[in-house]
Amino acid sequence: MRLATLIRSVMLVAIAFSVGTAVNAQNITYAGPDGAPIEGERCATPEISPQQQAAVDAFLENFLAENPGTQNRDGFYLIPIAYHIVRYDNGTTGEVSDADIEEQTDVLTAAFAFMDIVFETASIDRTDNTTWAQAQPGSSAEFAMKAALAIDPASTLNFYTTVPSGGLLGWAYFPDGCESCTYHGVVCLYSTLPNGTAVPYNLGDTGTHEVGHFVGLYHTFQNGCTPPGDSVDDTNYEASPFFGCGSRTTCGSPDPIENFMDYTDDACMFEFTPGQQERAYVQMAAFRPTMWIKVPVELVSFNATLNGDVATFEWVTSSETNNSGFEVQMLPDGQSEYQAMAFVEGHGTTTEVQHYTYSVIGLNSGTHMFRLKQIDFDGRFEYSQEIEVSVGVPGTHVLEAAYPNPFNPEATFRFGVNTQQNVRAELVDVLGRVVSNLFEGNVAADEMQTVRIDGSSLPSGTYMIRIVGETFADAQSVTLLK
Ligand SMILES: [Zn+2]
Repeated sequence: MRLATLIRSVMLVAIAFSVGTAVNAQNITYAGPDGAPIEGERCATPEISPQQQAAVDAFLENFLAENPGTQNRDGFYLIPIAYHIVRYDNGTTGEVSDADIEEQTDVLTAAFAFMDIVFETASIDRTDNTTWAQAQPGSSAEFAMKAALAIDPASTLNFYTTVPSGGLLGWAYFPDGCESCTYHGVVCLYSTLPNGTAVPYNLGDTGTHEVGHFVGLYHTFQNGCTPPGDSVDDTNYEASPFFGCGSRTTCGSPDPIENFMDYTDDACMFEFTPGQQERAYVQMAAFRPTMWIKVPVELVSFNATLNGDVATFEWVTSSETNNSGFEVQMLPDGQSEYQAMAFVEGHGTTTEVQHYTYSVIGLNSGTHMFRLKQIDFDGRFEYSQEIEVSVGVPGTHVLEAAYPNPFNPEATFRFGVNTQQNVRAELVDVLGRVVSNLFEGNVAADEMQTVRIDGSSLPSGTYMIRIVGETFADAQSVTLLK
């Protein structure tokens, strides 16, 4: 603990010195609101020195040794986002619609699905303040804006959309253990959000890139071709930022230009690596533990009610993460495998209680099992507990159709009675002769019996299943086709 505290405080000091010196030469051109080109800068996340990086890496290595498994996937993490739209005093420059904010959240969730991190829009607020809107990283205006607007930084990602001067697209601060410090969060040029004007940086991946920094990832070109690079093993070294789309080799292997942590155009960056996932996990667990909360799909109840041959299922979730939905599955009486009955769409990601209902109509007599298969968007699934639904025998008896029919050489059929009695079943040929005794015994009420027909020693032809109890008699025909 003493080591952790020491390194955290060292890092905080380091951060304090590094902000304000972040702005580099302008290096990109993108479309302004009127279509005219703007010269700008891709990212102004404070650069970290090799010494700082070594201190972080040593700390994380130590943390991982004390918290083994922290790097492994084990369910989904939900990060709520508080959006702050900071506009000019005119109330229009810098405006972003609520719909585009939702799309930004979707872009983040899609990008970070690879890491099993999902995002939800927790709140949206708007502020008109030209000075704040134009704030540069490390400026007093930035810190004043964030101190005024930040919402619960320990458990919420604060996402500011602004109009930074100098054409800057965005910046963030690396995790450093100060969970409630208001300077954390990400800042993005408002027109980089989905449907914004900042072509080719208007698909929302400036947000993805800056949130990448927020969870602890460096640029892929960190340290150029020199170890430890970006402190991730499976991103190739890269001498310098890559702009646009295409391919390049600067350190002897293909540059990771498709990685979200390069400077590529939004349309051409689309991946994180397993190594980045592990590094993000350890950083979040070590430095942002309050925010690093797993939210599974919590099924709090699953019940069935039966009315005649209609079973109605109701279930309730207290929270859901990345939930595509529920497959209702049935194991019919006498069978050995569950089969899918229906798919009921889930609510994706939510921390609100959700109610679901589904009815199965026309159930046969017998004892059937039901369960829910909860499926995530990435295909992973989990089963609920099973529920038993017993449908009684209507009237005196039930004789179900034999299956298959025609058959060769075997078929089965089921029957049931509504009061306990002795029952006999026989297979009879067209001349009325009994060719096989199928069943004889005392049968309990409402318990379906499965009977097998073996036609292996019989010639092809039509036969009659004749079944006789104390309170009923019934028959059906079957065809043996060899
Ligand atoms: Zn960056």
